[in-house]
Amino acid sequence: MSDLRTHAAEIAEQFSDHLDVDEDEVAERLENLVEEYRVPVDEARRSVVNSYLEEAGLERDEIGRGGNDEVLLADIDQDEQWIDVTAKVVELWEPRSDSIAQVGLLGDESGRTKFVAFETSDLPKLEAGAVYRLGNVVTDEYQGNFSVKLNKTTSIEELDEDIEVGDDSVTVEGALVDIQSGSGLIKRCPEEGCTRVLQNGRCSEHGDVEGEFDLRIKGVLDDGEEVYEVIFGRDVTEELTGVTLEEAQQMAKDALDTTVVVEEMREDLLGTYYRVSGPELGRYVLADDVERLTEPADPEAVLIKARSI
Ligand SMILES: [Zn+2]
Repeated sequence: MSDLRTHAAEIAEQFSDHLDVDEDEVAERLENLVEEYRVPVDEARRSVVNSYLEEAGLERDEIGRGGNDEVLLADIDQDEQWIDVTAKVVELWEPRSDSIAQVGLLGDESGRTKFVAFETSDLPKLEAGAVYRLGNVVTDEYQGNFSVKLNKTTSIEELDEDIEVGDDSVTVEGALVDIQSGSGLIKRCPEEGCTRVLQNGRCSEHGDVEGEFDLRIKGVLDDGEEVYEVIFGRDVTEELTGVTLEEAQQMAKDALDTTVVVEEMREDLLGTYYRVSGPELGRYVLADDVERLTEPADPEAVLIKARSI
């Protein structure tokens, strides 16, 4: 391929999600500038890119660099790289800010990575459990944790396939010294693809909704040297407490108060030693697997310690 053909192919690729750009047409425009008007190649390229940007109504930073590599999530090790990924939406979380449209966890064969989509990018919503080919996402790094940001130029293609999400789990152990607020019997938004925990019956995205009950524990394990924040989902929580979701709902109904559930969990579980395995996500270990190591040794001592952190 000649030099100009290569440039033409790259430019066509850069705009492929925005315009119906024909590679031959790009090559012709480049050739015209370079051969007819003796414009240096770089300048010709800039000029052609600018005219397509204008046509598409885009800013320069809104288009990718073209020809991204398809990268496995676990291989992301640099900030601000433009990449393509094929991944499953493992979880969606509650955005902490109005500027965030969606935040959650993507997974592929290699592991899991957080993703963020901003309101300004105006992208279609991803659905939990679905697999997508995401073109033109940008890597981001915060305190050694990598994530990907979707942006205006990101292409989203839903694939009719499943991905066996790879295991990148860690194992921590310690005494359960705290069960944090947001634990116990909670309600989640029932809207499709939204799993946000409701605050006073309200989803931050969908407003007042008839929530769906769920069980979870946001806990703190202390091994004497370090503390680990862990999240137990419904299955693990039911297993640890011996209380099913239905039973928890009945307890809340009888007491006319949902907090009885978390209170009982605190009584039963605090002070017990656990070994927890699961993927690490930001500051949390998401418990896929929990093993009870001992009965609570001295609940009183642990509780005193819990109050001190
Ligand atoms: Zn919602």
